[in-house]
Parts: sequence; structure tokens; C-alpha cells
Amino acid sequence: MTSDSLDIVSPADGTVLATIPITSAAQVAEHTADAAQVFASRVWSGLAPRERAAALLRLAELMERDFETLARLDSEDAGKPITEATEGDIPGAIESIRYFAEAADKLYGAVASTPGAVLAFTQREPFGVVAAILPWNYPLAMAAWKIGPALASGNCLVLKPADATPRSALHVASLALEAGIPEGVLRVLPGTGPITGAALASDPHVGALSFTGSTATGRRILVAAAESNLKRVSLEMGGKSPHVVFADGLAFGDDLIDGLLTAAFVTSGQNCTAGTRILVHESIHDELVARLVAGAAKLNVGAPSDPETSVGPVINSVAADRILAAVNSAVAAGANVACGGAEVDVLPGGRYIPPTILTHVPEGDPILTTEIFGPVATMQRFSTREEAIAMANSVEYGLHAGVWTKNIDDAMACARGIEAGVISVGAYSEGDLTSPFGGWKQSGFGGAEKSLRAFDQWTREKAVWVQLQGQ
Ligand code: ADP
Repeated sequence: MTSDSLDIVSPADGTVLATIPITSAAQVAEHTADAAQVFASRVWSGLAPRERAAALLRLAELMERDFETLARLDSEDAGKPITEATEGDIPGAIESIRYFAEAADKLYGAVASTPGAVLAFTQREPFGVVAAILPWNYPLAMAAWKIGPALASGNCLVLKPADATPRSALHVASLALEAGIPEGVLRVLPGTGPITGAALASDPHVGALSFTGSTATGRRILVAAAESNLKRVSLEMGGKSPHVVFADGLAFGDDLIDGLLTAAFVTSGQNCTAGTRILVHESIHDELVARLVAGAAKLNVGAPSDPETSVGPVINSVAADRILAAVNSAVAAGANVACGGAEVDVLPGGRYIPPTILTHVPEGDPILTTEIFGPVATMQRFSTREEAIAMANSVEYGLHAGVWTKNIDDAMACARGIEAGVISVGAYSEGDLTSPFGGWKQSGFGGAEKSLRAFDQWTREKAVWVQLQGQ
């Protein structure tokens, strides 16, 4: 590695997988200026929406063709279990490109109710040059959530993958050319946050920027946008998502146990919607702990390349140290380790933390309110519905919440009362592509991902007022 390159280090075993140049601030400026020219040339924005759709559908076909490569790249770079990549991330990314491609010619403006001598209508138009800054936990899936609507609506997109995970997005950029998407419409600029990301956040050509990552970085990006060209910013950031399990929740059987374990431990808990706070009715606390511990014991902690692995390594040593310090500090304060809690050896050079569940965490311990971004869940008891809702809302985040009850009144009271952008009832789910995704409170704002609402992030509304003569 040199000061102008990045080593892509395997979380599995610490080997260097690739060395990739960092896009400098000057290069970012060249790219965005050039992207503005490509947009102005109308080589992409001037196409009929159906033609853009066709090109994006070809891209989805090529992603299908290179499925195994894309899955391997994300699994290697992020340390993601290969089965998670092949069953979740990559099919999800392809479906996302298809969904937004198919929507390209199905977007409408609106006509206002004006007097007859006037026609007033609104239409949505692309910004021109737009940017996306991505996290490392779902590299291609997040890229596709941005590429799909940004390109379908006619923009030129400059995308910065996370420092650790640029290879799948770089591959997709080459597939975009192969699919016939004109050169310069999709640019993938690998690099670091302080250099490449910061340059994009303050770039004068970028009209809109969509960010997924930590709340701390989102805050910086918002400041950079405010201090540069006031680009529109959409932020999808951290979470500390609760799952509220009522007394009748055990009636969900294995769906409950699988749902809670997936929520807490998929991607080693390195997930913005990780269900890290299990709020359980006091009458079933002990039984639920026992069942979760038994279920967690069946999750294989192993190398990401092993198809049997459910929980792989955490992204790097800094993260592992941070996660373990939070656990150790809670335990020192009196928390009980129901399972996990200590690192396990899988491959030298990787850091593997097994599914960890803490009970009896003292009130006020930071592990109950701060995002740990690792495979650690806490269990807290409640006695009434109101108490559960208050506990769910007692953190600064509001991304997702799960509710487990078959009682419609309890379910709807939680769905209405919990401050979160996404609520799932009887499941751990962010919904499919038809359902919008975005956070409340310090989990984010500025626009949804997925669904037709995603186009609002990448287009701006224009109102046209036409005074008609002789009517
Ligand atoms: P993490 O700490 O988990 O890597 P970040 O929020 O820092 O999460 O990273 C998400 C993305 O934001 C990455 O692509 C990263 O390079 C980028 N990033 C980090 N710092 C900045 C910054 N100051 N300006 C713009 N982008 C940044």
C-alpha cells in the first residue's frame, strides 16, 4: 500500500486481496466535471425512458451471468458468508436493478386543479450529476439501490464504494459499459472517506448525494454539503433496532427464534437494521433466552468461503476490539453472558466473534443505547405495552423495529407508537423492493431507498404554469 493506494484486506484471514488506487480530490473534480458534460450531451438523459430501461435490464442480465464472481468479491472483501451473498446480496442487487429499470417509464407528474385558462403541472427531472457514498456491509446490494433509480431517471452517477469493499462495484461499472450504458454515466471511484468521499461531499457539480453509513460520517457529509453547494443529501445511517416480543410471541415458534437470531446476527450484526435490542415480556423472558441460546448454538461461526457458515468474521481488528470492549464493559458492570462473549479462533489473521446475547444488563449501560455493529444482542424485560413502546423509543436511532404478537391491538399500538421508519410485524424484515426503506431520528432523513419513492432522492420536482390564450 502507498499513500495513494488502498489494500483490500480479507477480514477472513488478513491477506491482501488487491491493491487499488485511491481517487484523489483532483481526480474526483475531473470526474464530476466530465460527468456534467456527459449529462449535458444527453447521450443518456436524452434517451427515451424505455431505452434506459432496456440498458439497465441488460446490466441485470450481465450481473446474472457474473453472479458467482460478484458473490465471491463481496464475500471476500466484506468477510460475508458466501451463502449470504449468493442467497441475499447478489440476487437482491440484481432484482433491484430490474425493479428500477422496469419503473423508468412508469413515473408520472401531476396536474394541478387550476382555472380553465391555465395548465399547471409538475414533473420530475434528473439532477444531472449525482453521487452515492456506500458502506462495506452490503457492498453490491447498497450500490444497486442507488444505481437503479439514479440511472433510470437519467442522471450520471458517481459512486464511491467503501474503502474496504470496492471490487464488486468496480466490476458492475465494467458490466454497465458492456450493457451499452454510455461511458461516463456510471463512475465508480474507489478511495478513502477523508479523501475521495469528502471531495464528493463538497463537490460543486454534484446536485444530490445519497449516503449510507455511520451517523458520525453522515453528519460530516451534511456539513460539507451545507458549506459547499447545498447539494441535496439523503442519509441512511445507524440503528439500535428493538424487537418487541409479547407474551404470546412464542406462538410464532421457530419463526420467532429464527427471526430474532437473523435480526441480531446476520452479517455478524454489522447491519444498520440489526435487531440488537430484544424487549421481551417478563412472563416469557427465561424461556425465550433459553430458546435463543439453543438456536444461536446452531449458527456456525466460520470462514466466509464455507457454505455452512452463518456467522463470519467482523470487518477488521479495530471493530473487533471495539465490540469486545463494549461487551466486557457491560459484563464488568453486571451483565450476564447468556452465550458468546469471547472471540473464537477460526483462521489466523481474522477476528471472529460468536453470537453473543447479554441479559440483566444494568440500566444506563451504553451497550443498551449505542450501536455496537457486531454480533451482540441484549435482552430487556417489559411488563406493559406502554413500557415496551417507551423502551423501544429510548434511543437516538429510529430505523427499524420488529413486533412479535398475534394480538392486532398490541401489534398496531407498537406499529403506531414506535418511532422508526420501518416496522415489521411477525417477522424480521425490511420489506421487499416495493416497500420504502429509510430512517427516523438520527438514523437518517432526506429520502427513502427502494420502492418508487426512491426516485424522489434522484429527481427534483418542477412546476410548470402555462397561461393559455382564448379559453
Ligand atoms: P465505517 O466507519 O463503518 O466505515 P463510515 O460511515 O465511516 O462507516 O463509512 C461509510 C462510507 O463513508 C465509506 O464509503 C467511507 O469511505 C465514507 N466516508 C468516511 N468518512 C467520510 C467523509 N468525511 N466524507 C465523505 N465520506 C466519508
